[in-house]
Amino acid sequence: MRILVVNCGSSSVKAEIIHPQTGQRFDSMKIERIGTPRCVVHLNGQSIPLPNKEHKEALQEILPKFAKDIDAIGHRVVHGGDLFSKPVRVDDQVEQAIADLIPLAPLHNPANLAGIQVCRSLFPQLLQVAVFDTAFHATLPRRAKYYALPKDLCEKHGVRRYGFHGPSHQWVAQLGATYLNEDIRDLRIITCHLGNGASVCAVEYGRSVETSMGQTPLEGLVMGTRSGDVDAGVLFNLARKEGLSLDELDHLLNKQSGLTGLSKIGNDMRDIESKAANGDDNCRLAIHVFAHRLRKYIGAYAAVMGGVDVIVFTGGIGQNSALIRHRVAQRFDFLGARIHEDRNRDASVDFENPVCRISDDRSRVSVLVAATDEQRAISMAVEELAEEQDKVDQNYTIPIAVSARHIHLTRDAVNHLFGEGHKLQVHRPISQPGQFAAVEKVDLIGPKRSIKGVRVIGPVRPRVQVEISRTDEFTLGIDAPIRNSGDVKNSPGITLVGPKGTLNIKEGVICARRHIHMTPDDAKKFGVKDKDVVEVAIDSAGRNLTFGDVLVRVSRRYVLEMHIDTDEANAAELRPDVQGVLIGTMGNAKLRRKNIPHG
Ligand code: ADP
Repeated sequence: MRILVVNCGSSSVKAEIIHPQTGQRFDSMKIERIGTPRCVVHLNGQSIPLPNKEHKEALQEILPKFAKDIDAIGHRVVHGGDLFSKPVRVDDQVEQAIADLIPLAPLHNPANLAGIQVCRSLFPQLLQVAVFDTAFHATLPRRAKYYALPKDLCEKHGVRRYGFHGPSHQWVAQLGATYLNEDIRDLRIITCHLGNGASVCAVEYGRSVETSMGQTPLEGLVMGTRSGDVDAGVLFNLARKEGLSLDELDHLLNKQSGLTGLSKIGNDMRDIESKAANGDDNCRLAIHVFAHRLRKYIGAYAAVMGGVDVIVFTGGIGQNSALIRHRVAQRFDFLGARIHEDRNRDASVDFENPVCRISDDRSRVSVLVAATDEQRAISMAVEELAEEQDKVDQNYTIPIAVSARHIHLTRDAVNHLFGEGHKLQVHRPISQPGQFAAVEKVDLIGPKRSIKGVRVIGPVRPRVQVEISRTDEFTLGIDAPIRNSGDVKNSPGITLVGPKGTLNIKEGVICARRHIHMTPDDAKKFGVKDKDVVEVAIDSAGRNLTFGDVLVRVSRRYVLEMHIDTDEANAAELRPDVQGVLIGTMGNAKLRRKNIPHG
């Protein structure tokens, strides 16, 4: 397959023709300084002037010369708002939705849209896919999404944290896991994308749970020309004292700040490093503030995830600057991360050898440098969507079951709570073969309140696991992570009270992630595999609902059924006999399954 990947920025367009599986580049071109007298395209080793051309005119002229023998097109789209949590096939509705999101990304979405419109008019027969910068962060929990501003106002205007650089964070997190021969779903990864724009992301067991950019790409780290975090009060003071307008403040924070503002010599980290080495104090300060801000975020994100297993550096600065990596990662021993200085200095990555390790062999945390490849990530998303059109069979329905709060106990825990040698009694069988709701119930005592009479599910298991809903969390006063069943690492503990004893467990309380149980035959029918993450559409009382982020679990012992928790079922007002339809995978299944190269 030859995929054209189009990345329309506010003043430039980059396009490449890529083979998604091998990463081979067939051709590339770049249009710079769009809309100015010096607008120029670099193509086939030539520079052709396109004076004063805007996005559309420039692309209409150049694309027919460039985009030959392509099978499909992928478009990078910066803002997907609340509407898009995965790559989508572009049609009139999607195009309109991207236009509707312009208020959230006034510089980027219009450029992205121009690229889409020109490509759709030039290549109406080809599959076109929009891949969103924000989509990977659709899994951010509410606590990370919300700003502490009046809620109604935020909801009215879509003010919340969206996060950006999604394809890059996802790509390098996966590269890191592949390199370490681990499953991304077992790792807590902090990815640091340090280019002209910079952001950091906490990837907990494969899902983005926190990221430094916010509603716009202005928040967070120090960037080439953007300030990153500032006290919002500073803006009021500057507006008053300097008489700056909103547009001028916008320009100040987006174009004149960051490394440029501090160093006073521009945004290029190479220049800043060399001047700093020669004693330039402004450049030294720029490096100190840049590295300090990132250190702070890494520490914070380790706290958010209850630890960290992998730290990945990427982007022009992350991949190339040993000095910045050294400054960021020094004194991270307390996290279990120790840099090997020689490896750090010698680190070198490219598309062929995209990952290298810079941590010491004794470091518990693997610190990696990885070559990001957003274009390739986009091309793979296009390919996956192209294949999915025929793959996912939507003719089979899935029964939906509401999973009430319940407890799994170990043999020891049963002894402790119900008396030595006690055997759990069957109250009634449940749908998964061999399992049963037991007669036995226990009380849960949380730090705040307790919940009486919570049903035990038999038979006994190797670990105690307490599955509660979000509402239960608040009743109990516990902060339980959303997890796959069986994955209780670093989850909070609780007190269980049975008729014969009390048991304090150190970990085990989770909110179960939505999942579907299915047999290998079902999986074949649906065109999915164990651990794929899928979307399920449910038609309940005439309303069409889509549940994303649903984990597929395949075993011969299972019976086809999707489980959601009571809160979700209540919120969705589900009828008892409701059925769902699997409508697609979440756009990263292929990334996980296929071998991407490791060095
Ligand atoms: P963009 O976000 O525009 O894609 P890049 O990922 O290409 O940006 O990163 C650009 C940044 O990387 C620039 O600040 C550049 O100075 C920096 N950079 C590139 N090579 C080096 C290097 N060898 N040492 C330090 N910084 C580097």
